Amino acid sequence: MLRRKVSLILVFLVLLVTLNIWSALAQGLPEGFVYLSDVIETAQFDIRYYGENNFIGSRIDGYEAPTAIATVEAAAALAQAAELLEEQGYYIKIFDAYRPQQAVDHFVRWAGDLADQKMKSVFYPDVDKSRLFELGYIAEKSGHTRGSVVDLTLVEMATGEEVDMGSGFDFFGPISHHGTDLITAEQEKNRNILRDAMLASGFELYPEEWWHYILQDEPYPDTYFDFPVSLVSTNGRPGVMDEALEKAIGEARRTMNEDLGGPFGAAIIDVDGTVLCVASNTVLGDHDPTAHAEVNAIRLAAKMKGTHDLSGTVIYATGYPCPMCLGAIIWSNITEVVYGCRPEDAEAIGFRDDFIYRFIEDGRNDASILRIEEYGREQCLELFEEYAKLSKVIY
Ligand SMILES: [Zn+2]
Repeated sequence: MLRRKVSLILVFLVLLVTLNIWSALAQGLPEGFVYLSDVIETAQFDIRYYGENNFIGSRIDGYEAPTAIATVEAAAALAQAAELLEEQGYYIKIFDAYRPQQAVDHFVRWAGDLADQKMKSVFYPDVDKSRLFELGYIAEKSGHTRGSVVDLTLVEMATGEEVDMGSGFDFFGPISHHGTDLITAEQEKNRNILRDAMLASGFELYPEEWWHYILQDEPYPDTYFDFPVSLVSTNGRPGVMDEALEKAIGEARRTMNEDLGGPFGAAIIDVDGTVLCVASNTVLGDHDPTAHAEVNAIRLAAKMKGTHDLSGTVIYATGYPCPMCLGAIIWSNITEVVYGCRPEDAEAIGFRDDFIYRFIEDGRNDASILRIEEYGREQCLELFEEYAKLSKVIY
């Protein structure tokens, strides 16, 4: 069944390339490239260069979204490997795939700054930073930039845990080499499960890094690309994101100057690729602490469309959404957020969402922020049971 599904995906990919309608569907990606999440449904992602858990310790230039992009050919080969691995009880977890040249330039700049050793203890404890170039850990060019290289590991289906490979992704040292005797037999077995599936699917290994695989017949062997790793969905219409951005800023500026709310705007891009509506923060004007730009935009869009289900739309926000807005976005079935300013930018002008995220991440136990207690469960359960009997649609 699974094999049939993957084969269908492959046929579909070939058809798309043949019909040359790829760019319209690939939402702004250059022709010949795809999002791996669109090709391999079960793949997991931990895009290290988008976050701070990498050898530099900060987001890398050119990573605008936690997503992975690859050439159509590499994606098809990886789908085959993922299928082989699923048959053995593993999902793949992708750390990186296509990497823009600006990211590699960022690595090179960082390597030249010997004073910056923030992540040394985790990623290169035994390597002198001044030797990263000569030892081959950093180079001016990376195979990733050609679009057909992927960094990945395995996740055990049964436990949902990453398998033990003996060293972490991007650990600079001999323990990361294939064939090292610094790891246990079990760890070596795990590396070989990944290796065998990748080699059987058309990839070559890289002797120094157990996680790094290169497509044998790569389609662009001499081209180093520089488009960003982003999810900017234009729903087939380039320029709509700029229109959304401009309108969101305009509306935010207007209500801000009228003292109605903070400098936050949001726009919703409809399924057809047009800007459906725009709204801004009106917390002060409406005496409504929940009247954030995103919530206002969602309420407006839902009213305009006559449904609570905004599936297929994209929300643009001038600032990274707060926890309330992220929740509202998820409840409305929007699956893509594009934002302007980062949380730290909002913090710099006095808006702090940080403590709410921390409260949630810490298990919602900090009574100094919020006391939460249970009361009247039995009566409320009666209500729930009445609901269950009505068997209404869950939304
Ligand atoms: Zn918000």
